[in-house]
Amino acid sequence: MRSFQVIKLNAAGAVKVDRYLRTSLPNVFAAGDCAEHYVRQLGRNGYMPLGPVANKQGRLAGSNIVNNGAMKMFPGIDQTAAFKFFDLTVATTGLNERQLQEGGTDCVKIFVDSPTRGAFSGGGTMRVLLICEKGSGLLLGGQMVGQAVVAKRLDVLATAIYKQMTVFELAKLDLSYATLYAPVWDPLLVAANLAIKKV
Ligand SMILES: Cc1cc2nc3c(=O)[nH]c(=O)nc-3n(C[C@H](O)[C@H](O)[C@H](O)COP(=O)(O)OP(=O)(O)OC[C@H]3O[C@@H](n4cnc5c(N)ncnc54)[C@H](O)[C@@H]3O)c2cc1C
Repeated sequence: MRSFQVIKLNAAGAVKVDRYLRTSLPNVFAAGDCAEHYVRQLGRNGYMPLGPVANKQGRLAGSNIVNNGAMKMFPGIDQTAAFKFFDLTVATTGLNERQLQEGGTDCVKIFVDSPTRGAFSGGGTMRVLLICEKGSGLLLGGQMVGQAVVAKRLDVLATAIYKQMTVFELAKLDLSYATLYAPVWDPLLVAANLAIKKV
């Protein structure tokens, strides 16, 4: 009688993979929405089924299948995502408050409400949440919600988190200003300066 091996799934129902995207079955790889995703900041797999992750994992799985003598590890994700909710854009990167509570991390949280543009240029309003580690100021996560394109502004924070920057370094970034695109103090810099006072 033929016997079947069952592929291992995680609690979310995603296929368990190692850093090379190998599943529990020999010579079977998984990538994209069906698979787990390594979360750098957690140092373990999570599940965040999104387009960029699926593309990167798919590319790597294909490469590892044909180069199995020199497989590369999936570098992981920082949980960056954006979506539209009626006229609002919502964007997130890094660890969220629930994950930080679960990890028992002592952190500083800053909320900033800001216009999305400079004076007399229309635009809307936005709110920034910036989270950093108490003491070191290491950037841990952030979220933005607003009536304009906040997603690309959040990508600055995603880059800073990837490079393991602190709020002290974030506050020194030379971000662009023109009244049509941003207030003279970028909301992210305002949040960083406020965080420095609490770190
Ligand atoms: C409405 C919507 C909006 C989205 N918007 C965003 C967004 O803005 N940003 C973002 O990052 N992500 C977004 N996503 C998620 C993103 O589309 C997915 O993460 C990504 O497409 C996953 O790619 P994948 O290749 O793993 O799976 P899929 O794109 O689902 O591809 C799987 C393919 O396998 C095929 N298939 C299934 N079963 C079988 C079978 N038994 N045999 C053969 N073929 C099979 C399917 O037909 C499909 O073509 C959105 C998803 C949806 C549904």
